Amino acid sequence: MKIAVMGEIHIDGLNLLKENSIEIFEIENFEENELIKNLHDVDGIVLRTAKLNTNVLSNCKKLKIISRHGVGYDNVDFKYLNDNKIALAITGTSNAISVAEHVMTMILSLSKKINVADKLVKSGNFKKKYELGDFFELYNKKILILGFGRIGKALAKRCLGFDMMVYVYDPYVDDGEIEKNNCIPVDKNKGFEIADYISIHLPLNEETKNMISEKEFNLFKNNLILVNTSRGGIINEDSLYNALKSKKINSAGLDVYKVEPPIENHPLFSLDNIILTPHNAALTLECRKRMSVESCKNILDFLNDKNNLNYKNIVNSNLFIKN
Ligand code: NAD
Repeated sequence: MKIAVMGEIHIDGLNLLKENSIEIFEIENFEENELIKNLHDVDGIVLRTAKLNTNVLSNCKKLKIISRHGVGYDNVDFKYLNDNKIALAITGTSNAISVAEHVMTMILSLSKKINVADKLVKSGNFKKKYELGDFFELYNKKILILGFGRIGKALAKRCLGFDMMVYVYDPYVDDGEIEKNNCIPVDKNKGFEIADYISIHLPLNEETKNMISEKEFNLFKNNLILVNTSRGGIINEDSLYNALKSKKINSAGLDVYKVEPPIENHPLFSLDNIILTPHNAALTLECRKRMSVESCKNILDFLNDKNNLNYKNIVNSNLFIKN
């Protein structure tokens, strides 16, 4: 059996494949022609962030499963996979903790203006601390979490630990489930009006693209701190720039961008009231190990031992579960 590994993954996952006598083909060149040449005879693909389009996929004559090292799958032609009965797996149990901790770090750093205060001290301006302006406690503040899936839930737990009031907007989750987790279900626009913090944990699709644009920025409170670690494109970056520049909102934290990497000298880089990270929320050592092992195990279990398979990790499991 031959598995292509597209992009670098932690050694633990590769070792698992080797222990199971799998032929591993590590791919670092993601040009379309190279992929067409190299993927034609693989049984499975472990995929990081490279794109797999229809043209490449239609040349993968033996492909049975793509296993994402992560949970988002907007880099794969999912319709093609469904039409051709190819499984799509994700590492559903691996990354919620790391991403939720990343969000807490951003929320705390922005609330305490850590990035600005750090510059103040290092530039010899210790005594100008009163010029930092207001900064805040999290205690008793309202956070709106958009999307109550794996990461949204993990974040809610952490916010409750800081005595925040946690509001949730997710029309696909029952209110009872939200309340059982000590959170408050809320309509989207009502949530936008009352939130001191908003954190986004949605998939990127036609429904969520530009979900936060100029109209929404007009609803927000002036002290709003906005964090996006889900996918770029859900917040309109031009509207975000205008809102931050004009101080319509307090500040923002982004781990994801409409185009990655973002263009050189992106307008957002010039602002003090934003902190930016390079789409690394899930790249802690612990999380990289878990994602590497889980993505490889998904393939092994799918190809060899369906009894062990975690069907929750197979996004299109409906194609494979017999009634
Ligand atoms: P998930 O599928 O468990 O949860 C997504 C939730 O969004 C679901 O509960 C769903 O009902 C809800 N939802 C879908 N459409 C909605 C809409 N229009 N309005 C409101 N709610 C809606 O996903 P997850 O594992 O929690 O991941 C969330 C996002 O984070 C994904 O976009 C994923 O790609 C991204 N992510 C980013 C990183 C990173 O490194 N920055 C790492 C992991 C995941």
